[in-house]
Amino acid sequence: MSTLLIKNALLLATMDEERHEYSDGAMLIRDGYIEKTGFTKDLPETADEILDLSGHVVLPGLINTHHHFYQTLTRVIPGAQNSNLFNWLKTLYPIWGRMTAEDVYISTQTAMAELALSGCTTASDHLYLFPNGSRLDDEIAGARQIGLRFHASRGSMSLGESKGGLPPDSVVDSEENILADCIRVIEKYHDPASGSMLQIVLAPCSPFSVSTELMRDSAKLARKYGVHLHTHLAETEDEEEFCLQKFGYKPVDYMESVDWLGPDVWFAHSVHVRLEDIRKYQHYGCGVAHCPSSNMRLGSGFAPLTEYLREGIPVGLGVDGSASNDSSHMLGEVRQALLMARLRAGLQGASLSGEKSPKLITSREVFEIATRGGAAVLGRKDIGSLEKGKCADFIAVNMNKLQFTGSFQDPLSALIFCNPGWVDYNFVQGKPVVFRGELLTVNVPDLVKKHNKAASRLVQQ
Ligand code: ZN
Repeated sequence: MSTLLIKNALLLATMDEERHEYSDGAMLIRDGYIEKTGFTKDLPETADEILDLSGHVVLPGLINTHHHFYQTLTRVIPGAQNSNLFNWLKTLYPIWGRMTAEDVYISTQTAMAELALSGCTTASDHLYLFPNGSRLDDEIAGARQIGLRFHASRGSMSLGESKGGLPPDSVVDSEENILADCIRVIEKYHDPASGSMLQIVLAPCSPFSVSTELMRDSAKLARKYGVHLHTHLAETEDEEEFCLQKFGYKPVDYMESVDWLGPDVWFAHSVHVRLEDIRKYQHYGCGVAHCPSSNMRLGSGFAPLTEYLREGIPVGLGVDGSASNDSSHMLGEVRQALLMARLRAGLQGASLSGEKSPKLITSREVFEIATRGGAAVLGRKDIGSLEKGKCADFIAVNMNKLQFTGSFQDPLSALIFCNPGWVDYNFVQGKPVVFRGELLTVNVPDLVKKHNKAASRLVQQ
């Protein structure tokens, strides 16, 4: 048994059911789980370890619900900088097809290091191509060392160009191999218990890179094993056109036809949806990974975030892959979500006669998406808020920094209204991953060197 006491926090924002916030806040942790939160004066004065967080804002660790770690190797590629989704993909597929197992390992560490330093404690990743003998295991090995909670999506692509799909045949796999490997990784790694550090998700890449049979078979397999399902959906108008031509359905109707709507499914993006699609998500309990930076970067459009929240759809936040963001900054993404939702509200308001001041989303609403929302999307009841019985996953930011000066009236909002920067502390299950601004689990300068060597070999081949 060991205890850790966090005390004297400038503000402790719990994101619990009642959204308690404590100035001069404290939290008692026992064996990696939260025992009590409150004001410093109301908590015990002693513990095995005490961390004085005077001047810091403390909040639940942020949860990333969509990413492609391997894309850190192909950031800002000139030929893909100014393209929409389909052209961007066509430029990048051949480069990604040269990746090795070592590249997957290194890029996982790079993306997770950036996530940890920017406030993420649980990350989901979607790896959907496995060239040159690389496997999901390479990603899992890289992630274990960093120390974040991990939901590894075993992605797949089976519909190559010769069968009418978008990716070249060289980066797709046979459905037999894909399904056999899905079973292998679930049986080897998936841990559904409370406090789980690793879960497996089945994640065929998108309607335009996977056959109808593989979509259906993946859903059957996921339900047999009780794992979640994830894919890209309704990201662009190109995709909608593809689905109509190839399957005779719009994207959400297509997913319904392959038994892909349910509370165990979450979709990345869901930008181009109709009100009836949103109602279907609501009816079946599907979740959404909202990726504002990527949607702006690729010119994909505005996801109807306000409507999702109004209809009670679980929504989490995703930085998306590092070739379409091109950063893995979680606090930065919370800021983008706030700004994008406000811009959309403003544009809609401007188009409606007489609507002069549309309701704008608040900082607390977007923090809620990045914490409680992400937990709901991933199907986790043990993370997403700081309250008794939950995992001690939290972050803390020192507000005595240049970028926060003058913001003392609302330090939580200041974290994203101002330039967020890196976090000072990141704890997962009560263990430090970032301490006094330093990432403890990997040597960052060495990682940068290794990563740049791998990326230049990959891109210049
Ligand atoms: Zn994506």
